Amino acid sequence: MISVDQALTKIMARLPECRPTHCTLSNAVGYVLAEDVQSDIDSPPYDKSLVDGYAVIADDVQRNVVLDVLEEVLAGQTPTKIVRTKTAIQIMTGAPLPQGANAVVMIEQTSRDGQKVIIHQDAIQPEANVMRQATSLSQGEIILSKGTLIRPIEVGILAEIGCTNVPVYQPPKLAVISTGDELVQATTTPHGGQIRNSNGPLLQALATSFGAEAQSLGIGIDDFQTLSDLVATGLESDILILSGGVSAGVKDLVPAVLEQHGVEQVFHKLKLKPGKPLWFGVLSSADRQIMVFGLPGNPVSSLVCFLLFVAPVIFRMTGKHSECLRETTACLTTDFQQRGDRPTYFPAQLTERNGNRYVTPLAWKGSADQRTLSEANALAFFEAGNQLYPNGEEISVFEIPS
Ligand code: AMP
Ligand code: MG
Repeated sequence: MISVDQALTKIMARLPECRPTHCTLSNAVGYVLAEDVQSDIDSPPYDKSLVDGYAVIADDVQRNVVLDVLEEVLAGQTPTKIVRTKTAIQIMTGAPLPQGANAVVMIEQTSRDGQKVIIHQDAIQPEANVMRQATSLSQGEIILSKGTLIRPIEVGILAEIGCTNVPVYQPPKLAVISTGDELVQATTTPHGGQIRNSNGPLLQALATSFGAEAQSLGIGIDDFQTLSDLVATGLESDILILSGGVSAGVKDLVPAVLEQHGVEQVFHKLKLKPGKPLWFGVLSSADRQIMVFGLPGNPVSSLVCFLLFVAPVIFRMTGKHSECLRETTACLTTDFQQRGDRPTYFPAQLTERNGNRYVTPLAWKGSADQRTLSEANALAFFEAGNQLYPNGEEISVFEIPS
């Protein structure tokens, strides 16, 4: 069996190219820029006042000097007069600095008497309260570079520089099929031997939160033809995830169904706890490469396999280069007995107190205990091999993004 690192290397070797597209500004948060973006303007586009006050010649300013007020310029207006010695123009924040002026006295440092203004400060430096044209950025300059993750802050900058049709990487289309005769939809009350399909909604939500365009294709009963029909639809996506049906049970039909559709098995099973039965394959055609993951049905295994293997694929396909699980260290708050020959990624609660990080592996009551799982915000990592990790020991932890 291959290791987690080997599995990840094999998966990443089959990544298709990122596909560029465009989106609107209002949709752009969470996308990654697929091109450098230039400004079509200077910012500010003109010399402007940073305060409400009087545009003056700095050399004129001394305490109690009286200046003639030539006009008033509001934001959005342009001055029509030129400031000459012993004159001033009243100006509002953001309005263009009139010709002749080289500083702005704040309104709080003045008093007004009809068409005159009296200055109440001793002196002012040239350029005080003035922001010159293109101080922030210049026309033609690259403002945001390819690969930048767009946050709300970038949306503001993109709007300022006139980039409304934003070049971004297209999110992959991802389909989820939940397999199992025992499954019923979450809207249904389960009866004799049934359980609600929780993996479907869980995996779809995870995929969406990592940036994929995810849809659920519903439940596929453990019947070859039914699964095959669903898989045919699923293979229209860029990534297909199946949950369940990849272990050694008599009804674990997923690998055979995928093989029938020409999906090349890259690996099946790996040294991982939980998540050993993971199946990964690729359907290649001249113009497309579809990544197919068969995740174990147990919700904890599904979650761990998704975070370790599917999330990085979505990240790379959307142009992101950061790690999707941030690795850190934390001190165990309890003993942990590690057993067996597989490294373990154990759902855990990571907390911070007085600048120190603590990690508590969750004591769930069986593999389907999603209630306890809901307390997890991290995966605690334990190497393969029988070993007691004592309370207080520092271990590796992977933070699950919220
Ligand atoms: P399997 O991998 O199909 O053998 O399933 C392993 C365990 O996970 C079984 O107890 C299943 O009932 C459970 N399981 C499988 N699929 C789901 C699902 N979609 N939602 C919740 N539990 C599931
Ligand atoms: Mg099953």
